Amino acid sequence: MSGLGQHIEYAQNFIAQVDAQHARDVARESAMSSDKTRKNTERLYLVVQAMWELLKDKAGLTDADLDAKVQEIDMRDGRLDGQDSTQTDPMKCRQCGRTILSGQTQCSWCGAQAEGGPFTHAR
Ligand SMILES: [Zn+2]
Repeated sequence: MSGLGQHIEYAQNFIAQVDAQHARDVARESAMSSDKTRKNTERLYLVVQAMWELLKDKAGLTDADLDAKVQEIDMRDGRLDGQDSTQTDPMKCRQCGRTILSGQTQCSWCGAQAEGGPFTHAR
């Protein structure tokens, strides 16, 4: 094989090794992120369960009250789909109406403060 052919083969092998390593890195990062999401979800479930038991004990609310409220919130966007779309749709600026980028606290178009609230989170 010519010298050039050997260089090309070497480069192709090198690229294949880098690709394989990259694929392993991506798989590892994905697994770690998935584990973190699972732990966060379990923690959130625990806190919600604790809050609900406190409300039942201290305020006398019932599971029927909770079911009715969940359905009422779910229907606020006109769709009974098991989610609150106000938390999943992109945030719109209340001043100029443009989309506020994920994680921003103010509109990058007009500078208005993003709407806050207890359930506002980075998207
Ligand atoms: Zn704006």
